[in-house]
Amino acid sequence: MRTLIRNGRVTLPDRVQDADVLVENGRIVAVEGPAQMGPVTADRSIDAAGCYVLPGFMDFHTHVDDQIGRFYLADSYESGTRVALQNGITTLCTFVTQGPEQSLVQAIATARAKAQGHSHCDVLWHLTPTSFEPADLRALEVLLAAGYRTLKLYTTYKAAGIFASYGRIEDLFRRLGPLGAQFMVHCEDDAVIAAVDPRLLDLGQAHSHTRLRPAKAETVAIQRVVDLAITYRAALHVVHVSTAEGARIIVRNRAKGKLSFETCPQYLVLDDSWLQRPDGHHWLCSPPLRTGRAELLELARSGAADVIATDHCAFRPEDKDSWDGTDLRVVPNGLPGIGALAHVTWKIWEDDPDRAALGLSTHLALNPARRAGVQDRKGALGPGQDADIVVLDPAGPEQPLRSTLVPAFEAFPGFTSKLMFRHVLLRGDPRVENGRLLDPDQPQGLLLQPSPATLSFP
Ligand SMILES: [Zn+2]
Repeated sequence: MRTLIRNGRVTLPDRVQDADVLVENGRIVAVEGPAQMGPVTADRSIDAAGCYVLPGFMDFHTHVDDQIGRFYLADSYESGTRVALQNGITTLCTFVTQGPEQSLVQAIATARAKAQGHSHCDVLWHLTPTSFEPADLRALEVLLAAGYRTLKLYTTYKAAGIFASYGRIEDLFRRLGPLGAQFMVHCEDDAVIAAVDPRLLDLGQAHSHTRLRPAKAETVAIQRVVDLAITYRAALHVVHVSTAEGARIIVRNRAKGKLSFETCPQYLVLDDSWLQRPDGHHWLCSPPLRTGRAELLELARSGAADVIATDHCAFRPEDKDSWDGTDLRVVPNGLPGIGALAHVTWKIWEDDPDRAALGLSTHLALNPARRAGVQDRKGALGPGQDADIVVLDPAGPEQPLRSTLVPAFEAFPGFTSKLMFRHVLLRGDPRVENGRLLDPDQPQGLLLQPSPATLSFP
């Protein structure tokens, strides 16, 4: 099966140009200007006039089909990957967290059972190890060699059993860094948070969340972890940076190590004023929405954030509203975002559409694919790559953002977008037309990493 995508503005890793894209058997075989391409016979032809042609996006940071504290998330693999694919995301990256009394291998098997056959786009897992006995570390070594590359660590959340001390992080950088591990670290210093006296705050006000988890917690943790990554030459990706100062620590040190970071749509276009609303607790997330988003937005505009990802974490309305108005610390922390990712990212550069298209391709495709170690098949429009392709009309009908398709509070109410996903191809197959899934009963997403059942563990 050959597909020719004609007449589009094609985003390449370093530029945007008029070109045609030829796809054969699920892979891209050529990207050429119409004159160079010459006459081509194709089984299917897609006219991309007036549209950008982009590599399929990755949301590098999402939580779906998982238990977070007392609450089960609203999105399954089916609904999470559906809203993803309808909005140009052809690879959803999400987390497998090792539970208590569970091996990471067992946790992956459980996640595979939930995702297999139900995922509309491809799925790539980041691993969150929580136990570090010798057998756990040996299993991690096998998984790293087999294509699981990204490990998530938390400098906070002791009560949830996922906290890793700086000593632990140092040990893992030293031991697993040389094996190619890409460390994703949630940076909020637990000691800075513990030093806040909640009795001095009005815990009946959602806005107090910003003082329970102050900006200083983020910058202190980023500085510590960046220093360790430089010392041990470990690849460090700081997740969901919410402060300009935190971002600058990474930017300043970039030349000294393998450092990258992501920020999220909510930290770029929302701020702590949303927490002042009567329903402000709906916007509780960690790190919190803050003042000073304009500075972070300016950094993102300059291209400083390697990746823009959502930290999608959709809770059911009844769970967000289970708070009785006394202690806000019982409210589940997280916002939905998958369906808003491309639309909000576009807004960063919307005055310059070519720049916006390049921004989507860099921060939602190329850079996340490199961090995940799948750049040989994902993240760019080039010969040999999976034909995960987005045909994006920047001048469609204006529509409200929809972060998730399941019942959950919308994180971006009142925000609209004119982006229309005319076509989304997954490995060459047309799966979305004009924002609608073509074959909702036949999910075609692949799990990109091997089943642990096919691996041998010592
Ligand atoms: Zn997260």
